[in-house]
Amino acid sequence: MKETTCSTAQTLANEQREFLTQMLQTSLPGARVEFHADAINVQHAGQQDDAAIVGMVKRLVYIARSLNKDLLFHNAATPQFERDPQPYLESTREVIQVHPGFFTLQGGFLEVFKAINGRVRAMADEVDAIEQEYPAVWPVRLFKQIDYFHEFPHQVILCAPVKDDFDTRKRFADTYGKDAEFETVAMDQMMAPAEYGLEPAVCDCCYYGLENTSELQNAYYTCYNKVFRNERSGFGGLDRLTCFSVRDIMFVGDEQFVLEARQVLIERLSTFLTSLQLDAKIETANDPFFSNDAVMKSVFQNAHRLKYELLARIPHLDRDIAVGSINFHRDFFGKAFNIETLTGATAFSGCIGVGMERLTYALYCQHGERLSQWPQPVLDYLGLGRRVDQGR
Ligand code: ATP
Ligand code: MG
Repeated sequence: MKETTCSTAQTLANEQREFLTQMLQTSLPGARVEFHADAINVQHAGQQDDAAIVGMVKRLVYIARSLNKDLLFHNAATPQFERDPQPYLESTREVIQVHPGFFTLQGGFLEVFKAINGRVRAMADEVDAIEQEYPAVWPVRLFKQIDYFHEFPHQVILCAPVKDDFDTRKRFADTYGKDAEFETVAMDQMMAPAEYGLEPAVCDCCYYGLENTSELQNAYYTCYNKVFRNERSGFGGLDRLTCFSVRDIMFVGDEQFVLEARQVLIERLSTFLTSLQLDAKIETANDPFFSNDAVMKSVFQNAHRLKYELLARIPHLDRDIAVGSINFHRDFFGKAFNIETLTGATAFSGCIGVGMERLTYALYCQHGERLSQWPQPVLDYLGLGRRVDQGR
């Protein structure tokens, strides 16, 4: 046996030690790992040289940074504004309600929304993410493969066409003419069975598109899309919409790559929240992303946090709302869609998602209903220049 000592510059917690041991023993079969205050001693068969092993340990220590923590980041700022900005934004028609749960956006609010999307897109570019564009609907088969109807029936919105025959079309046209009395349309015998539904999340189309791939290269992907869930705010607010907008960055490949990518993005998102001067934190979510028993079991075994949330303070509601999330799916999608990495192992995946309306709303809630009230460095970071109050 050969012996390599690697300095860690810190004492590792038990969860981090278990993770390092497990990963090192996978890469170096038969290895023995011993932990000291600020070093790790690896006894191995000598298949790899000292430099390679020191490099591997360094990478694993980086990946393990978040493993023993529930609170990953906290930017404790004191918001200057305490009112709900929505009445003002509706009075200037920057936000126009189309129907409870969905809105038209324009003017300053839309500028901020697009600037945030641009910032998250830039984050994706920094890691060379492959850009993708998805339809706003999922085929029923996609819902089925990930057991979505069973796990999240409360969020499902299905789409069905009018049946494909002349009599039904005529009956439909007669029943729902302009002068008829109706506010909703019954999904009855005139409608065909739903073959697809409105997409309730962005990232799943990425894994679906990789179905039956073997020798998958580690990669990041990104997509911005509309998302639909059967829910809405209790008070017509922008905090919970039926149709909202999300940019996701997905990372798919071997376990080590996926965990490393997650850590890279946790750090970039922390910088992002700091630059926005938001009173915000990143912490473990209490709702696990996937709740089927096998996955939950392995979560407890591995002590990996599956989901973190980016939480921003909403002063007038005196609570936090999730403006984004960081998810680790383990091999859930790799198994559901039969995706294999270069080594033939089932692919792991993870994603981050930022909700544009939520984050834009949180910024207005904390910095003020008029852009001229916002801290100049925040406007500069978003590329929005100097704003002068137009006295409305
Ligand atoms: P919540 O716990 O608030 O329902 P979630 O855990 O369901 O959020 P995710 O599935 O992680 O949210 O979705 C990613 C992001 O999409 C959230 O962090 C949030 O910014 C945004 N989002 C989720 N649901 C809504 C909604 N109904 N309206 C507006 N934005 C939303
Ligand atoms: Mg939700």
